[in-house]
Amino acid sequence: MKIVNIQTEIKQIPLKTPFITALRRVENVEFVRVTLTCDNGDKGIGEAPATKAITGEGIEEILDSIESVKSVLNFLSPSSSLEILHDKDTKHSAIQKIGSSAKAALDMALHMLIAHSQNLLMLEYLGANEPLTLQTDITISLNDASSMLEDAKKAVESGMNILKIKLGSDIAHAIEVTQTIAETFPHAKLIIDANQAWQVEDAFRYIDALRGVKIELIEQPVIAKDVQGLKCITEYCDIPILADEAVFSLDDAKKVIQSKSADMINIKLMKCGGVTKAIEILEYCRANHVKCMLGSMLEGPYSINIALHLAMAYSDVIKYIDLDSPLLYKEPSDELEFTFDGCEISLKA
Ligand SMILES: [Mg+2]
Repeated sequence: MKIVNIQTEIKQIPLKTPFITALRRVENVEFVRVTLTCDNGDKGIGEAPATKAITGEGIEEILDSIESVKSVLNFLSPSSSLEILHDKDTKHSAIQKIGSSAKAALDMALHMLIAHSQNLLMLEYLGANEPLTLQTDITISLNDASSMLEDAKKAVESGMNILKIKLGSDIAHAIEVTQTIAETFPHAKLIIDANQAWQVEDAFRYIDALRGVKIELIEQPVIAKDVQGLKCITEYCDIPILADEAVFSLDDAKKVIQSKSADMINIKLMKCGGVTKAIEILEYCRANHVKCMLGSMLEGPYSINIALHLAMAYSDVIKYIDLDSPLLYKEPSDELEFTFDGCEISLKA
């Protein structure tokens, strides 16, 4: 089986309401979909969203990257392509230069072709014995305190009980929002994501003000490169600290874990370069008894599908799932392999 065609298209999915974090504001999920067609007619599909603020790749960069590797991957088998795509010592300059999101899109399309060729569901191919019911959090966008409380109310009323609260650099606002949501919804689990907006002192102030409030974890309080600052916060507080923007690769994960700079790692296919690389990080975390979040950007249905299959295969390592994009789409997507019922996700029958 050989790849004979690689096609890209730009897709947009409107959101119910704008998605706002300390880094960006988005009204549509916009992504590149890549379709690999083999000589037997089988197709593998992968997707990469534009997240310039995070991976440095906009739509143009993702399209250019995929265009530049077409001549390398065409007429190879999916497994040879996958090997070349992730070959650290590759001589192909196009492969050396490809961004992590474009690589992730190709990687997931290749995985789909390989799982198909073995007649396996993706989750079986990745090592799960059976489908599981998973729970995702839902994002509460950064906004004024009353809008955030209102959004939390809507989320809880629609059956969500894990709220991922996006906070910014205004610590008084961060404290107020967290206290109000915690008091109003005492049974909700609160995940706090500062998206690098805080200084170490801000984090201390926040943590001190919220002693006694049950918080599941605090995600990436300080700027990605400040691993020392992250470590100070991890040592200072009893709430688990999760490294997100600080960890793209397996090497980043090793650095953070070996230096005990965070308690947990947020793995995203777009940061690490696809399923192949996510598995390397998951295996390392499994061996070192470190729990993970499996996160995502605002993504399309095919990249969410494969992330959910992966979450089922590594449910012992992945303690939190942040794959709520489909809940934010204005209209449900037929391309999802999973149903979302409140926070519960299961494979469609
Ligand atoms: Mg995050």
